[in-house]
Amino acid sequence: MDTNLPVSTQPRVVIVGCGFGGLRLAKALRDAPVQVVVVDRNNYHNFQPLLYQVATGALEADSIAYPIRKIFAGQKNFFFRMADVQRINTAGNTLHTSVGDIRYDYLVLSTGSLTNFFGIESLEKNAMQIKSIPNALNLRSFIFQNFEKALLTENPEEKQALMNIVVVGGGPTGVEISGSLAEMRKHVLPKDYPELDLSKMQIILVEAGAELLGPMSVKSQQDAMRYMNELGVQVRLNTHIKGYENCRAYYSETEFIPTENLIWAAGVNGAEVPGLPPEIVARNKRITVNQWNQVQGLTNVFAIGDVANMVTDEMPRGLPMLAPVAQQQAEHLADNLQRLLKGQEPVNFVYKNKGVMAIVSRNKAVVDLPKDVHFSGFFGWLTWLFVHLMTLVGFRNKVVAFVDWAFSYFSSDQALRLIIRPFSRRDVKDDQGKKKAEHNTGTPQYNPTPPAIQTPAA
Ligand SMILES: Cc1cc2nc3c(=O)[nH]c(=O)nc-3n(C[C@H](O)[C@H](O)[C@H](O)COP(=O)(O)OP(=O)(O)OC[C@H]3O[C@@H](n4cnc5c(N)ncnc54)[C@H](O)[C@@H]3O)c2cc1C
Repeated sequence: MDTNLPVSTQPRVVIVGCGFGGLRLAKALRDAPVQVVVVDRNNYHNFQPLLYQVATGALEADSIAYPIRKIFAGQKNFFFRMADVQRINTAGNTLHTSVGDIRYDYLVLSTGSLTNFFGIESLEKNAMQIKSIPNALNLRSFIFQNFEKALLTENPEEKQALMNIVVVGGGPTGVEISGSLAEMRKHVLPKDYPELDLSKMQIILVEAGAELLGPMSVKSQQDAMRYMNELGVQVRLNTHIKGYENCRAYYSETEFIPTENLIWAAGVNGAEVPGLPPEIVARNKRITVNQWNQVQGLTNVFAIGDVANMVTDEMPRGLPMLAPVAQQQAEHLADNLQRLLKGQEPVNFVYKNKGVMAIVSRNKAVVDLPKDVHFSGFFGWLTWLFVHLMTLVGFRNKVVAFVDWAFSYFSSDQALRLIIRPFSRRDVKDDQGKKKAEHNTGTPQYNPTPPAIQTPAA
């Protein structure tokens, strides 16, 4: 029991997840009279907004991750256990984890989100996702492996499918990765694969809604669409991908896009942990919390960030799943926990929207600030670079990212295109590290019989 954590007279706050929210909360409790125990299945903090740059070879994985123990070196009340949290026992105030049980006085869930495939099994089995560093490295290797295969095949249909890349989801992640792939097609692939006719390579961004960057301003949506056209990315709006099998991304019973590379960036669910009463798990598997992040019906359990469903009058569908929401909730909860310890009333959380942005490619980004301020282009791109550089954890990471970006900008090249972890879909793992797919796609299989179409669960 308690995984050798030291006995303390101070109450123990256990934080599950050291992403944007968990990290900020543990730091904010540095001087609080509590024992802070952080549990994460990884021993590093992952800066997810730059995952797509790892996937497209613009940044090294090491420059967007930082070892958790190093971040907290010197924080006396901090303890870390690398473990997968499998179940919460709210009656016994304990967590059941892969390394043993951990007792808590206060529990904070900051477990983030998981890719949502809307119950479509063929996508879950065969699509690439981009939620973790292993996902991003797999994606990079997979794309370059497929180009190596495209050189070898005589079959034009197979060659086309190996070179085509379909990105599903026109939100910031889908737009960012499509733009980055278009840059790769223009600057990197012609140098590496002069034997391939890259004018035939298609990058297709598919979006179920009527516009790109749905939650952003109309100006940002229009700018993003214009940039996609300039980069030669084909955008298909109002299109649902309903199945993906045998290298065919189906958007109707019979119509499909041939592709070996399908990247699913079309939605996420909260990463809830089993053991909570089912009635408090809201839509998208987010956990219902009150205005001070307390889980409904549980006095000493809290949730922040992506996994928390905090509904406000302005946002009846819950606050957006964004890093600043997680960070602001973390800081607010740190104050509220200390108020609770002193017997004071907690204070309601108010989200301060400081703006949203998305990068499309070099010199092209869109930025929406409060009070309807919008700008894009080169200035938007510089703003994006500056904000992301400043928010990366660790001085070394900031320097390495800056050097990599400067090198790419001035040389129009990306140094990182090693196939260092050969990947086949046989290896697909979900975010819990469990094996998910058994689908072997060593070479594309062209099955003339279309698979059954599954429609997304309501
Ligand atoms: C590709 C991509 C791009 C994005 N771009 C942006 C952007 O540009 N701007 C923006 O604001 N937001 C962006 N986001 C969203 C942003 O990353 C999230 O809103 C933010 O990470 C949420 O923080 P969090 O603390 O709730 O969870 P996370 O940062 O996801 O952290 C969750 C942590 O919990 C751990 N964990 C989960 N379950 C368990 C378990 N059972 N046991 C142990 N550990 C567990 C995970 O390992 C992880 O470390 C992006 C997300 C993605 C995937």
